[in-house]
Amino acid sequence: MSDFSLALNEDQLQIQKWVHDFAEDVVRPAAEEWDEREEFPWPIVEEAAKIGLYSFDFMANAMMGDASGLTLPLALEELFWGDAGIGLAIFGSGLAAAGIAGNGTPEQMMEWVPQCYGTPDKIALGAFCVSEPDAGSDVSSLRTRAVYDEAKDEWVLNGTKAWITNGGIADVHVVVAAVDPELKGRGQASFIVPPGTAGLSQGQKYKKHGIRASHTAEVVLDDVRVPGSCLLGGKDKLDEKLAKAREAMNKPKHATSGKQPAMSTFEATRPAVGAQAIGIARAAYEYALQYAQDRKAFGKPIIMNQAIAFTLADMATEIDAARLLVWRAAWMARNAEYRNAEGSMSKLKAGRVAVWVTERAIQILGGYGYVREYPVERFHRDAKIYDIFEGTEQIQQLVIARAISGLRIE
Ligand SMILES: Cc1cc2nc3c(=O)[nH]c(=O)nc-3n(C[C@H](O)[C@H](O)[C@H](O)COP(=O)(O)OP(=O)(O)OC[C@H]3O[C@@H](n4cnc5c(N)ncnc54)[C@H](O)[C@@H]3O)c2cc1C
Repeated sequence: MSDFSLALNEDQLQIQKWVHDFAEDVVRPAAEEWDEREEFPWPIVEEAAKIGLYSFDFMANAMMGDASGLTLPLALEELFWGDAGIGLAIFGSGLAAAGIAGNGTPEQMMEWVPQCYGTPDKIALGAFCVSEPDAGSDVSSLRTRAVYDEAKDEWVLNGTKAWITNGGIADVHVVVAAVDPELKGRGQASFIVPPGTAGLSQGQKYKKHGIRASHTAEVVLDDVRVPGSCLLGGKDKLDEKLAKAREAMNKPKHATSGKQPAMSTFEATRPAVGAQAIGIARAAYEYALQYAQDRKAFGKPIIMNQAIAFTLADMATEIDAARLLVWRAAWMARNAEYRNAEGSMSKLKAGRVAVWVTERAIQILGGYGYVREYPVERFHRDAKIYDIFEGTEQIQQLVIARAISGLRIE
């Protein structure tokens, strides 16, 4: 008799099947079209809203309702198995929701997270805006400034955000800005920019390598004024944090000292991002496995060659290894403290596996793998982002290296 179990419960199995069916029936058939159009797939997101997959309730249940922490990664693997670009169009608001949940008060969460989703009749979007043209990995050196106008109890935001998923088309933008730039990451705070706020506009929309159905753009903040109540966590908490940071400024730095608003959001979302990468890898692996059984060369199915069969064996093994890391990290995020940056480990491994597996899938399909008529070239283009966003491969290594050594490795 042992307590250790990887068996999924009835609810989890049901959600897994429900999302898989949607991915198979609605998402996968639309994937090629929206990848080619490079536009936000509104009709598909509307379909997801109609069945309740794109909704505050689903996200709240997936993020908080399941004590095991596995529901969200399970759902995301299935959705992104369908298509990563459309998957991110459906899940992108979740980044803003996580930003609000990670830094806001319960009241702020109840007010703003539902507004990131809207209703099936009038869907809304959220965007989480951290990165800037000169500050991607180095989130401690954000230039976007937030200045408090005490007389009006308003914050004034100025700056440019880069690479923002749903940027400019979102209803709710969550913006991380420097309140005291001297304090670097510890002098930052997160703000809600409510729908229709003057001064916020979309800059350039990027033309991307992959996940092309997901909208990615610059967000320009030009004297954007938001009420004091839009500071996530509230002014008292911020003042306290700034005072502590100023006090600590001259003390020696430790790897774990200081918690930046953006970093706490990323830690919480990393296993979920890893699960997305696994969905893409699994899609490519399944396609290549079937193809290798159907395609004949030299008078026999190509899978009868060890070179191909062993590659598929490695692909299956790597996907399972990555999934186990993601499940562990998702479970730990809910049930224990991360000890050795297990969230980063899961994202690092899953991103690498997705890129490797999708590249091998192209190899197994040969010339057919390289053309757009077959989906594996799209899977490969979609996979690459998982080495880059929500912390690059090197940043995950840095976080893990600091956690295992306790040293401030640069
Ligand atoms: C499609 C897409 C969607 C995105 N969505 C969002 C979003 O919704 N919200 C948001 O805020 N951001 C978003 N991003 C931004 C993303 O998080 C950043 O691109 C990423 O963090 C990397 O930052 P950078 O592009 O400035 O690269 P840089 O930080 O300039 O890094 C360049 C290279 O240097 C390496 N490097 C940097 N520092 C170190 C170091 N200390 N040690 C070793 N190597 C290092 C990096 O690993 C990388 O290989 C998105 C990006 C893309 C492409």
